[in-house]
Amino acid sequence: MKVMKFGGTSVGKPERMAEIRKLIIKEKEPKIIVLSALSGTTNALTEISDALSKGDRTAAKERIDALENHYQDFIIKLVKSKEDYQKAKGVLAEHFEFLNIILKISYSEALNKDILAQGELLSTKLFSIYLHEQNIPHVWLAALDFMSIDTFGEPQVENIKTKLSKLLEANQGTDLFITQGYICRNAKGEVDNLKRGGSDYSASLIAAAVHASVCEIWTDIDGMHNNDPRIVKNTKPIKHLCFDEAAELAYFGAKILHPASIWPAQYFNFPVRLLNTMDPEAPGTLIESHSDSEGVKAIAAKDSITAIKIKSSRMLLAYGFLRKIFEVFEKYQTSIDMITTSEVTVSLTIDNHSFLEEIIKELEMFGSIEVDHNQTIVSIVGYHISKTENLLPKVFDSLAEIPVRMVSFGGSEHNISILISHEHKEKTLQLLNKGLFE
Ligand code: ADP
Ligand code: ASP
Ligand code: MG
Repeated sequence: MKVMKFGGTSVGKPERMAEIRKLIIKEKEPKIIVLSALSGTTNALTEISDALSKGDRTAAKERIDALENHYQDFIIKLVKSKEDYQKAKGVLAEHFEFLNIILKISYSEALNKDILAQGELLSTKLFSIYLHEQNIPHVWLAALDFMSIDTFGEPQVENIKTKLSKLLEANQGTDLFITQGYICRNAKGEVDNLKRGGSDYSASLIAAAVHASVCEIWTDIDGMHNNDPRIVKNTKPIKHLCFDEAAELAYFGAKILHPASIWPAQYFNFPVRLLNTMDPEAPGTLIESHSDSEGVKAIAAKDSITAIKIKSSRMLLAYGFLRKIFEVFEKYQTSIDMITTSEVTVSLTIDNHSFLEEIIKELEMFGSIEVDHNQTIVSIVGYHISKTENLLPKVFDSLAEIPVRMVSFGGSEHNISILISHEHKEKTLQLLNKGLFE
């Protein structure tokens, strides 16, 4: 069994769905296809939800109508037969009727999740109608019947495995399944999701559940590049990464992969391939357990970081001080990304600001607190880079003109992280690219 996940741009146009069909039928192995929403849909649904949360029904209605028009145009080009066109119209009627009904319901977080789930339901149902018209036998699976998270928002791998196996068994003889990325049920049984970009995570969890031979992530670029292609010119695809390298890059901002999508592959040991729907012959990136070479592979950046500095003369020679600080973050379920210490000061960073005020209030008991918002972590990632000769001088020479707020080196052998103010991000990525790759 193979898992193939296609992202928003890969399903965003009727002709792209036709390309996917070609890619799928080329494969002999049984497959589970995981689809994202059509590009722009989840953003539109987020805007609808935001407008509703503010009580702005007019704005929500306008956005719903614009989205519906987009889908009406989409299905005209997607299917040819009258019968399948009527079916597609029926799907739109069902989901847009729901969106129109919610205009009359009072807003809640559960409703927000229901709204966000419409995108993947629409894309998979429309793709299924298209495959039907093309006489390609398949089964549409509801991810809400098997994908679930616990009270901490963590996927329940064993449950997913049991439920999905049952569904596959019930459809013996089928070798093509279509399902939704991103959406799941939470511990209360409500509709929920795996956070933005979460279809990659769905694909990887499904691959783990069915012991897939490979998890293919098909997107709009020929694999993981050595720097952010939206910011730096002449970036290059990386042919091979080990799980640790890929996980660090995804976690530290390489948008091509959801940050959590590597751990299932690492734990259950199946390879992940990043491939380009627009250029299927390109080798892309293969991610597996071992690394094929040492040294720096790529640079990534993660935004919206807050740095907190705790200064306390009581820390001088005191043991147990760090534990007390960490306990505050644990209490508010806020994970720390970077940390640096001096004798009397600890600086650390967080990316979840939900409880920032509460955290600061509690930290003030330990000393004086300084907070810097709008920071960016830039990570230099590779295999055993801590052993790479002259790497630190190269990094610091490249960044001579950038005010660096924190540096973390040695925590892992595969990463150097640098904290800068967001305004210096573009320049930092460009300078590092020049210094390390050109
Ligand atoms: P999908 O909709 O298929 O999930 P995403 O937009 O989530 O696609 O991810 C692909 C995009 O990630 C690319 O178009 C590219 O602009 C961006 N990206 C950011 N950093 C990298 C990187 N290091 N390598 C490749 N793509 C990257
Ligand atoms: N549609 C969701 C998003 O845009 C999930 C995904 O595409 O991975 O975030
Ligand atoms: Mg994505």
